[in-house]
Amino acid sequence: GRRFFVGGNFKSNGTVEQIKNIIETLNKATLKENVEVVIAPPALYLLLARELIRPDIKVAAQNIFDKGPGAYTGEIAAQQLKDAGIDWVILGHSERRSIFGESDQFVASKTKAALDAGLSVILCCGESLEEREKGITTQVVTRQLGAVADLVQDWTNIVVAYEPVWAIGTGKVATTEQAQETHAEIRKWLEAAVSPEAAVKTRILYGGSVTEKNSAELAKQPDVDGFLVGGASLKPAFIDIINSAP
Ligand code: 13P
Repeated sequence: GRRFFVGGNFKSNGTVEQIKNIIETLNKATLKENVEVVIAPPALYLLLARELIRPDIKVAAQNIFDKGPGAYTGEIAAQQLKDAGIDWVILGHSERRSIFGESDQFVASKTKAALDAGLSVILCCGESLEEREKGITTQVVTRQLGAVADLVQDWTNIVVAYEPVWAIGTGKVATTEQAQETHAEIRKWLEAAVSPEAAVKTRILYGGSVTEKNSAELAKQPDVDGFLVGGASLKPAFIDIINSAP
């Protein structure tokens, strides 16, 4: 089976004090065995987090550049994360796509750079409300993922996060049926576009207004292999979400 995976995307939140507190809470918690847990603090706190967090929880960056090290002011290269002992990176988050105009191709190029440097990738996809209402959810997410499949054949070190844009930070969680349906579509696409093995092995996470109240029901869906949690990952409720793994 696929190992359940829970990621905490802190986004651009936290202070040194708050990050230390979150980590202390996680370090003291009893977590279900067999759940892979990754936290993604802002870049400024990555090394602090890596030094303080218990060894069974890994640390992710929220972005990289697809080039460098070199003359790219303000950017962090994949090799630099690797050098600093950071194992994961979140790429293609909808906030980066919409606020910073990241294209499918740029996300794909960054995914390739990350994998080439030995990082693992939480690759995000998801449709807007308008796209869902038009009935083109599957086309949108497979287009986003397809740009990556054009550059990357081996998906062993990729975890897919399906995050409907309308569910992110809105309190409007997708229904279990909506999540399961899209996850199954993504898995079907993986089989055809990447490989049957990738379809069986790739974890597909759900993200968007996940809380300790809705996580258990979502986690029961056959194609929901975990969560990418935003707001609730900053709170003790994150532990309950981790422990809602079936
Ligand atoms: P929320 O859990 O705050 O809705 O954010 C989801 C998300 O964007 C995780 O990457």
